[in-house]
This record gives sequence, structure tokens and C-alpha cells, in this order.
Amino acid sequence: MQQTPDLQQTAADTCAGDVCRSSELLLGFVNTAPHGSERIELLGDGAALRAWMAGAGLEPGEDEPVTQADAMAGRELRDALCTVFRDHSGCVEGAELLPAAEAYLRRTADRHPLTLRVTAGGCVLVPAQSGVLGAFGALFAAAADLAARGAWARMKMCANKGCHSGFFDKTRNTSGLYCGTACSSQASQRAYRSRRKATTGAA
Ligand SMILES: [Zn+2]
Repeated sequence: MQQTPDLQQTAADTCAGDVCRSSELLLGFVNTAPHGSERIELLGDGAALRAWMAGAGLEPGEDEPVTQADAMAGRELRDALCTVFRDHSGCVEGAELLPAAEAYLRRTADRHPLTLRVTAGGCVLVPAQSGVLGAFGALFAAAADLAARGAWARMKMCANKGCHSGFFDKTRNTSGLYCGTACSSQASQRAYRSRRKATTGAA
């Protein structure tokens, strides 16, 4: 059976300084890439993509296949989103990839159309398709939802070298760079050591 993701709820939530379903969906997706200390690929094949979809509440019907090609498309979409989130973190490294990522997202969005669900309570975008196409469409709907709330720029990748975790920046002025305190202190220790090295080297 086709399952339309219930994004209705997100309209009632607020993402201003908080995490909501749209950010959770997108972060859950980008964090299927090896990140943090675990370094496990969670979109390696069709079965893995199906498992992610089920975990995200976007489970396809039994008659809707999830293939290796779908998993590859998922990894490409994930890479493009990670590039955009890295740009939100102000990462200079990989900045040259941004135009290609934006072009990829533009092309891919065309293949995952959204439609409106209008009720007395509000108006939300939902995927027009089911299965894998609907699941990827739900990611675009989540992006549109966050953008409408002014929270798109809060979707970031951790700036701590080697972490590669996506996170929602809850800081008041959207200045957060790290996914958590562990990464923040690692980065400041690294900066301290490199300043010390520079001072010692100059002396
Ligand atoms: Zn981190």
C-alpha cells in the first residue's frame, strides 16, 4: 500500500532553534554516510535503503522494489545535500563542488514532484509518488518545509575534521560549527596546539 509521509505534523512544529521532523528526516538521511567514530555506510545496497526508509516512516509497499540503482541514486542525493550543508557551515574545503551539487539537486527535484495537502489546519507539500521516488520526494518536501521556516541554513555538517556528521544548528545566531561538545573541544584543542606550534616555531 502506498504510504504518504505525514508531513502535516511538521506544520504545527517549529524549527526555530529546535529540531523538528523535517530536520530529523534530512539528518537521518545524510547521517547514513560514514561519520563520527562509527564509519559505517548505511546506504550500501537496496536492502539498506529499504531499511532506512522503514526507519524513517517511509517504508515502500511489498510490491515496490528497492534496487541497487536506487541505493546509488540515494548516495548521490546524499552527497549533494552534504555539500550544501557543508556550505552552510562555511567550509571552504569542497566549496568548488557546490555549483554541481546545486545543479544535481535541481535536476533530481524535477524527478520527485511534490503536491499540496491543503486542510483547515494548514498547507504542506507531500510527495506525489510512492516507493523510493516518494521517499526521496519526502526529503525535498522536508527541505522546502525547513526553508519556509527560515531554518534551512541551520542544516550543517560538523566542521571538526573527520567527523562528517550532519547536525541542526540550534544556536541563536546560526553560528554553530560542531555537531556536539566533543567535536567542539577536539577542534579547539587542535587549534590551540597549532597556535602553540606556530609560536614555538617562530621563537
Ligand atoms: Zn562532529
